[in-house]
Amino acid sequence: MSDAPNVQALQSRGEALVHEAEREAKRLQTSEAAHACKAKYLGKKGLLADVMKQLSALPPEERKSVGKVANTIKEQLEGIFDAALKRLEQEALDKSLETSGVDVTRPARERWLGTLHPLTRTTFRIIEVFQSLGFVIADGPEIEHDFYNFEALNFPKDHPARDMQDTFFASPDVLLRTHTSPVQIRTMLDRKPPVRIICPGKVYRCDADITHSPMFHQVEGLWVDQRVSMADLKGVLRAFAERLFGRHTKVRLRPSYFPFVEPGAEVDVTCVLCGGKGCRVCKQTGWLEILGAGMVHPNVLTAVGYNPEEVRGFAFGMGVERIAMLLHGVDDIRLFFDNDIRFLRQFQ
Ligand SMILES: [Zn+2]
Repeated sequence: MSDAPNVQALQSRGEALVHEAEREAKRLQTSEAAHACKAKYLGKKGLLADVMKQLSALPPEERKSVGKVANTIKEQLEGIFDAALKRLEQEALDKSLETSGVDVTRPARERWLGTLHPLTRTTFRIIEVFQSLGFVIADGPEIEHDFYNFEALNFPKDHPARDMQDTFFASPDVLLRTHTSPVQIRTMLDRKPPVRIICPGKVYRCDADITHSPMFHQVEGLWVDQRVSMADLKGVLRAFAERLFGRHTKVRLRPSYFPFVEPGAEVDVTCVLCGGKGCRVCKQTGWLEILGAGMVHPNVLTAVGYNPEEVRGFAFGMGVERIAMLLHGVDDIRLFFDNDIRFLRQFQ
C-alpha cells in the first residue's frame, strides 16, 4: 500500500499544480498561449487528468472525498486561466486604442434620416383632400397611344390644339403622355358611371425653363354622374383650396379653352403670400392660377361610350410642382430635380 495514492497525497499534488499554474499564467503574453497553457493543465490528457487517473486505485470509501478535492483544484485552475485571458484581452484592447488613433471622446457622426421628397409630400397632401371628398385613385401607363392622350379627348388629328402641348413622340402613334387625362379615358372605358377619380402621376412635355420641366407631375380629377354641375366643380375646388392653402382662400373661375371640356375655365386662388393685396409673386393681382377645369366635353363622353344626354361630368387638373412652389415659396422648378441635399433637407 506504500506507493498507493491517498487523499493527502492527491491534495498536495493538486495544490502543487495550482501553484505551478499561477506562476505560468503570470508570464503569459498572448491569449493563444493562455489557451494552450489552459489545455496543458485542464485538457483531456492534461496534468490534472494525470492526477485524476490515480483515483481509480483508491478504495471506494475514499473516492468521494478525493472527488471533492479534485473539483476544488479544477475550479481553481479554471479561475487562474480565465483571469489570465481577461487580463490579456484588456491589454490587447488598451494597446489597440493606443495605436489605432481612434479618439473615443469625439462626438458621434450624425446619422441622416431619409425623408419624402417635397413633390411626393405635396402629391400626398392633394390626394388626401380629394380622398376625403370621395375620390379614389386611378393609375395608368406613362407611355401612351395617341388615342388615349389626344383623340378620345377631343383632339382630332391635325387639330391646332395639339400644338398647345409639346409632345415627345416615340412613333407617330406612341408618345409620352402629356397629361394624366388618358387615365380618365381608360377608367371610363373600363366602367360605367358614376366615376369619381383622381389621377396622380408623371407627365412629359418638351419644355424647360425656371417654371417648366420636361418631366413634371399632375393630379387630375374627374367626376361623372347623372347630375353633376359647374356648381359642384366650384364647390369641390373651393373645398380643396381651403384645405390646402387655408380657410380664407377664395376661388375664382375665368373662362378658358381646353379641347376636352366645355365650358372650360382657369382656376385662381387668392394669393397665398399676400392674401389678395397684391405682391411680386401674384404680379400685384392678388390671384394665383393653380389649375384648369371644366365640364367634360360631350365628344369625350361619346368617345368612351357614355351617353351625354344621360350623364355629365367635370374634370380638373393641376401641376404638383406649381402647387409645391406656391406652398413653399420656391421660385425655380429645377431645384426639385437637382437633388441637392441642402435644398431637400429643408422639407424634413
Ligand atoms: Zn400676392
